[in-house]
Amino acid sequence: MPMQPSRRSFFKIGTGGAIASVLGFDLKPAYAQSRELKIARTTETRSTCPYCSVSCGVLIYTIGDKAKNVTPQVIHVEGDPDHPINRGTLCPKGASLEQDILNPRRLLKPQVRRPGSDHWEDIAWTQAIDEIGQRIKKTRDDTFIEKDALGRTVNRCESIAFTGGCTDTNEFNYLVVKTMRSLGLTYIENQARV
Ligand code: SF4
Repeated sequence: MPMQPSRRSFFKIGTGGAIASVLGFDLKPAYAQSRELKIARTTETRSTCPYCSVSCGVLIYTIGDKAKNVTPQVIHVEGDPDHPINRGTLCPKGASLEQDILNPRRLLKPQVRRPGSDHWEDIAWTQAIDEIGQRIKKTRDDTFIEKDALGRTVNRCESIAFTGGCTDTNEFNYLVVKTMRSLGLTYIENQARV
């Protein structure tokens, strides 16, 4: 027998799906079918959420991978139910992973805000790399410490720090740490704890 909702509980239920459940319809097949329709004709790729070191497993569904002259497009991302860490769940940040790829506000070029300026401007990658290199060299040359107060050789650069983000791989962090140490940096932080 379908459950009889009270007038109060009927109005408390805000969605059509919930109302249908209360009226006795089993919505599981409908939900399952809508999910199947959503990912029909897609390619499933297993991956890892890049946002934090929990490293939850995700399934990424793309459409158009096998067609000629079509740019593959991610259409759905969800937690991997077979992954031992998250067993299909994702936190809100991981659940928004699709936006990491599709958001029109995603930055695709390096930007710089010049001293005194009130806005950011796009610059080319080559220009960004050149400018960063010039600033690193000048700062290091101006502030390099060869000996400490007791006259001991230290060869360090305390005026530059490096911090890595959660999307950096272990391999990237390994190279960064090698490079930064070769410049004499002591203030280095990254999520890989290299
Ligand atoms: S889903 Fe959340 S908890 Fe899992 S790796 Fe991504 S950010 Fe971390």
